Amino acid sequence: MTLTIDTLNPESRPRPSQTAVEKKSLIGLTREELAAELAAIGVPERQIGMRVRQLWHWLYVRGISSFAQMSNVSKDLRAKLEEHYSITRPEIVEELISTDGTRKWLLRFPARGAGRPVEVETVYIPDEGRGTLCISSQVGCTLTCSFCHTGTQRMVRNLTAGEILEQLLMARDRLGDFPDADTPDGAIVPAEGRKVTNIVMMGMGEPLYNFENVKKALLIASDGDGLSLSKRRITLSTSGVVPEIYRTGKEIGVMLAISLHAVRDELRNELVPINKKYPLAELMEACRNYPGLSNAKRITFEYVMLKGVNDSLDDARELVRLLKGIPAKINLIPFNPWPGSKYECSDWEQIEKFADFINRAGYASPIRTPRGRDILAACGQLKSQSERMRKSDRLQLEAMMIAGHGE
Ligand code: SAH
Ligand code: SF4
Repeated sequence: MTLTIDTLNPESRPRPSQTAVEKKSLIGLTREELAAELAAIGVPERQIGMRVRQLWHWLYVRGISSFAQMSNVSKDLRAKLEEHYSITRPEIVEELISTDGTRKWLLRFPARGAGRPVEVETVYIPDEGRGTLCISSQVGCTLTCSFCHTGTQRMVRNLTAGEILEQLLMARDRLGDFPDADTPDGAIVPAEGRKVTNIVMMGMGEPLYNFENVKKALLIASDGDGLSLSKRRITLSTSGVVPEIYRTGKEIGVMLAISLHAVRDELRNELVPINKKYPLAELMEACRNYPGLSNAKRITFEYVMLKGVNDSLDDARELVRLLKGIPAKINLIPFNPWPGSKYECSDWEQIEKFADFINRAGYASPIRTPRGRDILAACGQLKSQSERMRKSDRLQLEAMMIAGHGE
C-alpha cells in the first residue's frame, strides 16, 4: 500500500467560530441541566419543556452548530442563547485521510479554568456495512500499560461530557451524517444510511476513570430522540477498573470490552499494571456479573499480540480456561509498535496458530486488521500534538510497519 496522505488543504479546512471568552457549552448537558440553564436566562417556566425539546432536536437530530439555524426558536431567545452559551465544535487542527478510507482528526478543545487548550485524536474506520468511530475519554492516561503509547504520556485532564460528545458531532459533520439544512423539519438520517454506525471508547484514556462524563455522553449518544445510536453498537473498553464495571452495565448499558492481554497475574501486572490493584480473579468475577450478559450480548476480550511475551499456545490454552462460562468474544490485536516501545508484534504465523487454537475451542477470534497505518491511526498510537513524533521518527516507523507486516 502506498503512503499518500491526503491532508486537507489549509484553505478548505473547517474553521471554528471563535469566541473571545469561552462561553458555557450546551452540548453534553442532560435535559434537566438544559432546563436549568433556560430558567437561568429567564425562559418562563411553562415554556421550558417545549424549549428543551426544541434544543435537543436541533443539537442532536439536526446537528446544527449555530443558534441562528434554530428557525422555530424566537429571535429574542436565540439572541439570549447566543449571548450566554456556545454550541460550537472543537477546532480541527488536522484531518488525515488514509488510502483505506480511515480518517483521523486532531482536535483542540478550549482551556478550562487555569489549564491550557488540549488536543485529542478521534479516528473513523469505515468497513463493509458499518463505520466505527473511536473516541477519546481523557487527555493522556493515568495508567501506564507498558505496550501503550498513551501510557507514556502524562495525564492532562478528563474530557467533559460535551467534549466526548463533540467528537461524535464533529465526525458526523465532516462525514455528512446530519440532514442537510434544507431538508424538512424533523428529518433524520435513516440508520441504514449513516456513516457512523458504531462507537468504541478506545481512543486516549481510561473511560472508567472518567465515569460520570462518559456516562452522560453515552446516554446522550444513545438517546432515541436524538443521536439514536443503539447501545448494542457502543462499546466501552476498560483496562479493568473493577469497581466501575457493574455500574457500566447497570447505568450505561453499553457493550463491554476488557483489555486483557495476559492470562497470568504476574505478566498482566507488568503489561497492564492496574492488575496489581484488581487482579485477574476479581476482574473475571466482575465480568461474570456484568448486567445483561448473555450469548447475544457478549464481552469482548482484547488481546494484543506481543512476540515471545504472551503469544504461546500455552497462553491460548489458559485464555480459553480463564474465559470458561463467560459469554465472550476474543479480539486479537496485532501490536502496533511506536518509537521506544520495547515489544515486537508476534509473527503472523504465530498469530494464526493462536487464533486457530481459540477457534477450535469454539470462539470466533477475529484478528483486528490494522487500519489507517499510513496516518498512524491505530490503537495505542493516538497522541496529542505536543507528543507528536518528529518527522524522521515517523518515516522510520512507517518503514518498520511495512517491513514487519508486508501489507
Ligand atoms: N484505556 C482503555 C481504552 C483505550 S485503549 C483500555 O485500555 O481498554 C484501546 C485498546 O488499544 C486497548 O485494548 C489497548 O490495550 C490497546 N492498545 C494500546 N496500545 C496498543 C498498541 N501499541 N498496539 C495494539 N493495541 C494497543
Ligand atoms: Fe491507558 Fe488504556 Fe493505554 Fe492502558 S492501554 S495506558 S489504560 S489508554
